Formats: sequence, structure tokens, C-alpha cells
Amino acid sequence: MKYTCWGAAKQVTGSMHLLELESGYKILVDCGIDYEDKDNKEINAHFPFNPRDIDVLLLTHAHIDHSGNIPNLVKQGFKGDIICTEPTAFLLEKLWVDSVNIQNSNHNRRQTARLYGFKEVKDANEQLLTVSFSKRIELNQQVSFTFHEAGHIIGAASIEIQVSENNTIKTIGFTGDLGNPGSKLIVDPNPMQGLDYLVTETTYGNRQHKEKRSPEDVLLDYVTKTCVDQEGRLIIPAFSVGRTQAILFTLKKLFNEGKLPPIRVFADSPLALASSNIHNRFSDYLNDEAIGYKLADGSLFDFKSLYLIEDKSDVEDMELYRESCIIVSSAGMLEGGRIQHHISDHIQNPACTILIAGFCSPGTLGAQLLEGRSTIRVKGNDKYVYAKIDQTDVFSAHPDTNGLQDYFSASNDGKLKKLFFVHGEEESMNDLKSALSDDLREKVEIPSKGETFQL
Ligand SMILES: [Zn+2]
Repeated sequence: MKYTCWGAAKQVTGSMHLLELESGYKILVDCGIDYEDKDNKEINAHFPFNPRDIDVLLLTHAHIDHSGNIPNLVKQGFKGDIICTEPTAFLLEKLWVDSVNIQNSNHNRRQTARLYGFKEVKDANEQLLTVSFSKRIELNQQVSFTFHEAGHIIGAASIEIQVSENNTIKTIGFTGDLGNPGSKLIVDPNPMQGLDYLVTETTYGNRQHKEKRSPEDVLLDYVTKTCVDQEGRLIIPAFSVGRTQAILFTLKKLFNEGKLPPIRVFADSPLALASSNIHNRFSDYLNDEAIGYKLADGSLFDFKSLYLIEDKSDVEDMELYRESCIIVSSAGMLEGGRIQHHISDHIQNPACTILIAGFCSPGTLGAQLLEGRSTIRVKGNDKYVYAKIDQTDVFSAHPDTNGLQDYFSASNDGKLKKLFFVHGEEESMNDLKSALSDDLREKVEIPSKGETFQL
């Protein structure tokens, strides 16, 4: 069998991995949008293989850098099953529609090519097939696979694929994006076992999560300093799927415990609302704390001072409101979405804190703010940065260097032959490699895009 890394090679976005068996059977793992090469407007338009030749697509999770190019794959002739968990399938429906809307708006501004439309999203939805965690599924006499909890977002899977070739059974694992053990709402990662090969994410391969306080304590500290002491506004950019729910759940807990000051919390992202509903619907997939909360309270996120921004009149009401408040809005890296409006409105307000709660790829508006720039360009205007810019890793949805190494130890029972590093900056991969034991370090491969390995 051959493995080719067609995406997230020495970078974080655009995950796409191809396994080709000697029989000619082809499995694609993930098919995401690549956001890193902004100068190449065609980067996601074409595939380096014929989509008609792919037999099956196994999808780790719904995030658009793993799933966002699937309707384009379907448009270009892929007819096989798209296999994922049930929460992932429900999230995809919303994320793909949102992706079409973003593509249409970018296309109108001549920024990027339009990859697909609503018809292709409908076609892709019809090819979805959902499976449960921890059940071995046979694709044919030679190939079977099992989904294991990756602990990254609701329904996220690591995929263990077993291939029988030339009277030998080989097992290859794809971590997808892993979660940070102990995360809000989400279960801990369940490491795959008995692997010959592991293709692993390395997003935070050279970082240590520093925050030792609980998410409740961290948020309450920011709320008190910004919204009470300074009577200002706390703006939290957050991804619609995962991060927004972790933040709203934490705020709800603070509210229920009587600790949240009497200020409004605005959740301003239609996609985040849809995603929150999916979390409530599939709460069985969440951790014990979340399941307990859902049973006792009926909802994971609703509380009295939470204002969900659903339509134009909600937006107008929010804009008229001038008191101190908390605004949670997407997108996480501050590229596009409603958050740009809030940044534009508040970046010159010294009583405002913008709290970045996740990874920001180089070049994004979020990364520019974290670099400490004195001016930024947002919504077509240059603005001075007078707001306080801060960052927390307490809501991180990826393991740090220690978490990754713990995962490798748990999944390596002695027969691991190769460890492929993907989904990370090259520097992060090199640092992680250096931190490994001699035995594991010599098994590491850092594939370039399009590099093929015989397994
Ligand atoms: Zn992800």
C-alpha cells in the first residue's frame, strides 16, 4: 500500500491523505480547504488525482480545513460514500452552506475562485454515511476501519484502518485533530492501539499550555477586569464549532453559580447557534459534566443574560446597546464573519479587551493583532489598535507537546514503524521531533506535499 500526503503538509490547513492499495482500491482521509497560500487563487480548485478514482472518503471531523473541499470532490466526479459520525454529518450540512455563502461573497470581491454551489452541497449530503465510534466496519474483504474518539470537537474521530495485503495485516492510524485532555464539553482522546503507522497532527508540537486555572476562573477574571472595573467590553473571537460552545457553557456555569456580573452576553454568529443546537441534540457524545448539565438543566447554553443574535433586528438591538458587555463572535482567526464588524467598531476603544482564544495561522488578522501591531486594516479601513489584545490557551482544542507525546506513548505498543507529522508548522514539527525519545525520533517522517511512502 502507498500513502501520499496531499494536504496539511508542513502547514495546518488543507488536510487530505490518500491510501492506495495494491489492488487499486483508493481511500481518501479528509478533504479540507487550504487557507495558507493566499496568492494562489486556484489552490483548492483542482485535485492532484482523479476524484472518480477514489473509492471511499473517511472523514475525521467537520472543521472546514478537513471537510470543506468535499462538495468540490463530488462536483468533479467522486461517487463513493463519505463516512463520518452522526454529529459530524449534521455539522457538515451547516458548514458547507456557510462555505458556499463565503465563497460567493469572496468571488464577488474577486478574491478566490468559487469551488462549488448549493447543488454540490446537496449531492455531497446524499453521499454521507454515518457510523458509531469503536465499531469495526468492513469496506471489503481486504480493508476495515474503526473510529475512535479524538476529543477535539463533538463527533471528531481518529481513524484506524486495517489493510490485509500479501498475507500481512497492516494498521495505519490517522489522528485527525486531537483534543486537549480535560477540555470543556468534549471527551478525552482515546488513543488508537496496535498501529504500524501513525499519521498525526502536530498543531502545538512546540508549545506548552501555560494556563493552570480553570476556564471559569480565567473568564471571570477577564470579565471582572474589563466589564466591571473598566466598564468596557470583552470581545472573544471564536470558531463557530467547538470554541463558541465551550465559552458559552463556561459563562452559563458562572451565571448559574451566581458569579457572572449582571451584564449582557451576546453570541453573534448564526452558524454558532446552529452548532450549539447540534451540541444539545447530540449531548450523549459529550463528556460526563456536559451530559449531567444537560440532564439537570435541559440546555447546555441558555441562560437569562445570554442574547442570541439571530436576525437583522437582533443585530440592530445589539448595536444600539452601549453598556459594558461580552461579545462572542466568529470566526476564530478573525478572517471574515461577524467578528470583523466588532473588531472594526471596538479596536480604537481602550476600555475594550479582545481575547484571542485559539490558534491563528500566520498572516491572519488574529495573528497580526497578536504580533502587537499598532495599526491594522479591517473592513477596508486602517485603524489604530487602542484596545487591549490578550490571549488564553485555556480553551485550546489541541494537545500541547506533552499531550502529543502522551498520545504517542499510549498508542505505540512496540510495533510502530513510522510516525508521520502533518497539520503543523514545520518549526513545530522539528521541535516536537527533537523532544521525542531516540527510539521514536528515528521513526519520524515530515512529508512534503505530494510525497509518497510505501507502507
Ligand atoms: Zn479541527
